[in-house]
Amino acid sequence: MKLTYRYDQIAELFGQEAVSDQPIYSVAYDTRRIFDGTHQLFFALSGDTRNGHDYLHDAYKKGVRHFVVSNPETLTNYNDVHVAVVPNTLDALMQFAHWHRSKFSIPVIAITGSYGKTTCKEWLSELLEGEKHVTRSPKSFNSRLGVALSLLEITDQTEIAVIEAGITHPGDMKILKDMILPTHGVFTGLGMAHRSHFTDEQEHLDEKLLLFADCKLFVYPSSVSLKVPNGKKISTEFEPDKEPVQHDRLLKRNEVLAASMAREFIGEETIQLRLPWLENPSMRLEVIDGVSGNVIINDGYQLDAESLQYALQFQLAKSEGRSRVVVLNAQPSEEIDSVLKEFSPDHVHYFGGEQPSIPNYENTCILVKGKRSSELGNWISQLKQHPHQTFVQIDLTAIRDNIQSYRSRVPESVRILSMVKAYSYGSDATKIGRFLADLGIDYLGVAYTNEGIELRNAAISSPVLVMNADSHTFRNCILHQLEPAVYALNQLEEFIRECILLGVSDYPIHIKLETGMHRLGFEEKDIPELISKLNAQPEVRVQSVYSHLAESDVPNSSYTDQQIEQFDRLSSLILDGLPYSVMRHLLNSEGVVNYAYAYYDMIRLGIGMYGISSQYSWKEQLKPSISWHSEVSQVKVLQKGDTVGYNCAFVAEKETTIAVIPVGYADGFRRALGNGRGGVYIKNSFCKTLGNVCMDMIMVDVSGIDAQPGDFVEIVGHQQSLETIASLCDTIPYEMLTGLSSRMQRIYLEG
Ligand SMILES: *Cc1c(COP(=O)(O)O)cnc(C)c1O
Repeated sequence: MKLTYRYDQIAELFGQEAVSDQPIYSVAYDTRRIFDGTHQLFFALSGDTRNGHDYLHDAYKKGVRHFVVSNPETLTNYNDVHVAVVPNTLDALMQFAHWHRSKFSIPVIAITGSYGKTTCKEWLSELLEGEKHVTRSPKSFNSRLGVALSLLEITDQTEIAVIEAGITHPGDMKILKDMILPTHGVFTGLGMAHRSHFTDEQEHLDEKLLLFADCKLFVYPSSVSLKVPNGKKISTEFEPDKEPVQHDRLLKRNEVLAASMAREFIGEETIQLRLPWLENPSMRLEVIDGVSGNVIINDGYQLDAESLQYALQFQLAKSEGRSRVVVLNAQPSEEIDSVLKEFSPDHVHYFGGEQPSIPNYENTCILVKGKRSSELGNWISQLKQHPHQTFVQIDLTAIRDNIQSYRSRVPESVRILSMVKAYSYGSDATKIGRFLADLGIDYLGVAYTNEGIELRNAAISSPVLVMNADSHTFRNCILHQLEPAVYALNQLEEFIRECILLGVSDYPIHIKLETGMHRLGFEEKDIPELISKLNAQPEVRVQSVYSHLAESDVPNSSYTDQQIEQFDRLSSLILDGLPYSVMRHLLNSEGVVNYAYAYYDMIRLGIGMYGISSQYSWKEQLKPSISWHSEVSQVKVLQKGDTVGYNCAFVAEKETTIAVIPVGYADGFRRALGNGRGGVYIKNSFCKTLGNVCMDMIMVDVSGIDAQPGDFVEIVGHQQSLETIASLCDTIPYEMLTGLSSRMQRIYLEG
C-alpha cells in the first residue's frame, strides 16, 4: 500500500478535526504485522472472534500514533496519539476506500461468482500485465474488509484495477458495489455455495449481478439469465454445470472468461502468447517446520512489490522473535530494495538462477519468495524436517472459513469449542491449537491430560476442556490449568481431594451427562447427590454441563430428539441446583448441521473444521482443508506375465506401465486400497493400485499417461476426497485422518 494522504485529510472524512498532518502511507488492523507504525493508520476492527480495541497498546508499542476506533477509552493514557472516533470502524475503513477509489478515473474490473474468482482475477491480471500497470486484489481478499484493502492498493501508476468481490449475506453486494464503483465486470458462475442465506437461486443471482448494474462491459457464462446489467455484454458458452463442478473444467472456464475481458484492453496476439503460460496461482503461503528449529515460509507467488510486502508482514507475524531471513528468487531491484528496507530483515539472499551459498541457519524464520524452480525446490527440501516426498497439506485459511460457516448457523452469542484431540485429527494439535487461539476461539477440547499439557507447553493459554482426565492425572490438570470433565461421583471426590491438597478453590470443571451414548457420564439418579456435593465443596465450580449425540449425522432421528430432550431436562436440574450460572453444550459438527436449534451456549467443532461432512449440500459450503500429496519415484514398463509386489498379487496380462509412489500403509495408505480398489491421481487421471500396498510404497497403473519421475501425485485433494478414500477402506473420515502417520511432513497454508 502506498497512500499519499495526511492524517488530517482522512480524519476530516470522518467528520473530525485533527491537528496532526502526519503523512499516512498505509492502513493496519493486525498488530502482529506491524514493523514500524509511524506512518500507519490503525483501524481497530471488531472481528467475529477478535477485537482490535484489545490491541491498541500493542499498536502503540510498535510506533502507531494514529488510530480510528469506536471506543477511545484505552488510548486516554497517551498524550501523543491522534484518534478518530467513529460509530463503526469497518464502515469507516470502507468509506475511506471508497473515497480513495473515487479519485481515479481508470477502468476497475470487478469479478464475482461462486467459484474461480481468485484464479480468474489472477489470470486476467497476468494477461494484462506488461502492457498495462495492473493493481489487483491481494490473495483472495474479497470480503468487505478485503475489498477495502484492495482498493487502497490503487496508486497514480495504476492503469487498470482488478478487484474480487465475494458475498455471503443478502445486502453485501450493494455495499461492495458502492465501494468499488466497477466500470467492467466478470461473472464466473453460480454454484450452491452460500445459498443457505438466500431464499432461492434467483434471489442469489440477482444479488450477485447487482455488482455489475453500472458496468460498461460485462462478461458472463451464457447459462446465466440476465436481469440487471445495462452495458455491453459478452456471453461465453460452456458446458452446463454439473455438481460438483470439476476442477479442470473450472480452469478452462476461467481462461475463457479472462481472455474475453482482456480483449477489451490488449491485442489478441499478446493474449494468445500468454495463455499457455497461465499457471494455477498459488495464493497461500506454505509454512513448514524446518531442521535446526527453523520455520520456512514458502511463497511461490510471483515477486512484485505488493505481494512481497504482504509476505514480509506475514513473516513478521510468524517469526515470534526469531531472526528473519529472506531468500528471493529474483535479481535485486530498486523496487524490491525499498520494500525490504521497510521491514529490515536480518539477512537477505538472492537465489536468482544458480544456487548461492546460503549459510546453515538455526532458529530463524526463512521466507522464500518468488516463482518456483526445481533448484529452489531442492534447496527447500534440504531444509525440511521430513524431506519424504509424501506430505499432508493443511489449509488453515480454509479451517478459519469453515468455522465461520458453522458459526453462521447459530446465533452470534454462541461460543465455540474446537476439538484438537488426537493431534487435532491427525494434523498437529499445537499448530492448529495456536492458530485457533489466535483466531480467538473460546475453548479448546482434548481427550487426555497429556494432550492438554502439550498445548500449554506450546504457550497456548486458551481454556482447555479435558474429556477423559484419569484420576492419576488430576494433579497435572490443575498444575497446567486444564479443566477436566467430571462424569462420576467418585471421580469428582478424587478431584476435590486433589484440589484440597493443592490449596485451590473455585477450580473450573465440566459435568458430562449420560443421555444415550452409554459411554461416560452422570445418570439421572446421580444428579441430586451431585448437586449437593457441588454446593458443599468450594474447591470446584462448574463451568459447563454437556453431553454428546450418538447419531448427529442422521437428520430427523427420533433417537436424537430423545437425547436432546433428556439433555434439556437433566441439565436444567443442575442449572437450577447451582447458585451461579453455568454453560450448556451438546452439538458436535454434524449436530450443528442437522440439529442447529439445540445450540445452547456453545458448539463443539471437530471434523467439520476440516471441511468434512456427510451432508452433501452442507459439505459444498465448506472448503476441504486437508490434502495429501506425493511424487512419482520411478516409472517402469511390465511385459505380459510380469508380477507386481508381495505375493505377486498382480500379474500383467499385457504390456503395462507402472509408477512407484513412496506412500504405504505405514503412512496411512491402507492395505484395503490395494489391488485396484483404490488409487491416486496423476496428471488429472485416476491411476489404480496394482498388487498389494507395501509398508512404504504403492505401484499404480499409468498406462497411456505420460508419467515421469517427479510428477505430482494427488492422494487426497481436488479430485479425490477424503470421504471417497475412507469409504473405499470401509471406514469413516475420522479414522482415515487420525491414521495419517507422523512421519509425513505437515505443510500449513496460510495468509
Ligand atoms: C470429538 C468430539 C467432538 C467433535 O466431534 P466432530 O464430530 O468431529 O465434530 C465433540 N464433542 C465430543 C464430546 C467429542 O468427543
